[in-house]
Amino acid sequence: MKLTEQQFQDYLLQIRALAEGPFDEMQKEIEVTNTFPPEFYETAIKNDLYRFALPEQYGGFGLSEKQILMVQEEFSRGPGGMRMHLHHAADLDWRILDDFGSDELKAQYMDKFQDKTIYVNFALTERTGGTGADLHTIAQKDPEDPDYYIINGEKTLISHTDCSDFTYLIVKTDPTSDKDESLSAFFVDVHTPGFEIIPMSHMMGCRGAGHADLKFTNMRVHKKFMLGKEGQGLEVAMHSLAVSRAHIAVSNLGMAQRMLEMTIKRAHDRVTFGKPLCKRQKIQQDIADMGTKINALRLMIWDFAKDYDAGVNIDMKAAMCKLFSIDTVREVSDAMLEIFGGIGYFEDNNGVRRPDGSDYGPVERLYRDCRAMWLEEGPRTVQRLTAFRGLDKCGGRISYLD
Ligand SMILES: Cc1cc2nc3c(=O)[nH]c(=O)nc-3n(C[C@H](O)[C@H](O)[C@H](O)COP(=O)(O)OP(=O)(O)OC[C@H]3O[C@@H](n4cnc5c(N)ncnc54)[C@H](O)[C@@H]3O)c2cc1C
Repeated sequence: MKLTEQQFQDYLLQIRALAEGPFDEMQKEIEVTNTFPPEFYETAIKNDLYRFALPEQYGGFGLSEKQILMVQEEFSRGPGGMRMHLHHAADLDWRILDDFGSDELKAQYMDKFQDKTIYVNFALTERTGGTGADLHTIAQKDPEDPDYYIINGEKTLISHTDCSDFTYLIVKTDPTSDKDESLSAFFVDVHTPGFEIIPMSHMMGCRGAGHADLKFTNMRVHKKFMLGKEGQGLEVAMHSLAVSRAHIAVSNLGMAQRMLEMTIKRAHDRVTFGKPLCKRQKIQQDIADMGTKINALRLMIWDFAKDYDAGVNIDMKAAMCKLFSIDTVREVSDAMLEIFGGIGYFEDNNGVRRPDGSDYGPVERLYRDCRAMWLEEGPRTVQRLTAFRGLDKCGGRISYLD
């Protein structure tokens, strides 16, 4: 189902209205329950949020990468937990199977993402090591039936475990080696015997995203569920996370953009010592800095999208987008809180409204939600490492497409 330009622009407005309207409203209860109600999934399906990023042959809109990122910017203006869930649906959820699944797995499952018949979480992080060749979850061939692997171990901090049907699981298949090729990836049904989900406590923000520890005890998985080849696990993870970094960056962009708009409204409305805040040079300069960062970030992301659509390697630029986006949302959220003053520190701004009775938006929640980005899909140290590798390779001469 290909959208015309007008339909696409209308869709962006529809998603923005949804994020700041019904989704914001639903989140008030989710902050307490930490669980999405059935209406959230129903609304997301009705608004094509599981489908819009899919290629047309799987029921999607056949959008360019830039268009996909533009939709993500809009829903990222809403609650962080929903953003996390929908960002995953638009990206890793289906991309890993599409890129690395066998023809048999793709024929069976690829048309099931469009209406959330299946949802797949991604499990890499462990308590006991880093996120590379030092993983401790082990998959070994079943000595009694070599068509099966037996998996033992644990994962932590895994998102969306309460609504997933499968897990993309990165494990060690060669425990005798510390090389990158010692890892493999599997597509595992969460109902497999030996698969246990242990919910984690409430997070600082992004409530409702279903975080849990996973435990695997003698879990038997058929070899047909391996993604790529044995030894390709790190490649599956890193290839998938590379694109996903730009999707994290656009999530930060959506949040920062809404924070800027809210801050400008407040700076006009709040009068101290006889003048609105926006008449003070200090406040004007803070707002100018917020907008400058946001403008630069959006252009970086669009430049990434151009490279992606042209088939150019995007590892370095995706890492740079994520790195810059974390600094942007940190600075913008700090400035927002400072300019809002005391009411910004209270849930629902303690009921303070604009002179026309409208709402400023959730200052306190956005401030908490955006802090997940420091960690989600890798901290800044990892982005810097990837950016350095890319710069070293091109001798610092970054290329741009017209
Ligand atoms: C909201 C949220 C959702 C998440 N969802 C998922 C998910 O769905 N699936 C999943 O697999 N994981 C998930 N994670 C885990 C996330 O990817 C990790 O938290 C992140 O990669 C950091 O790893 P860590 O927590 O083990 O920190 P650590 O590795 O303990 O790092 C702590 C600090 O030390 C620094 N550090 C670590 N190693 C080095 C080094 N060698 N040199 C220099 N500095 C170093 C890091 O930069 C960081 O600042 C999620 C995390 C959060 C907070």
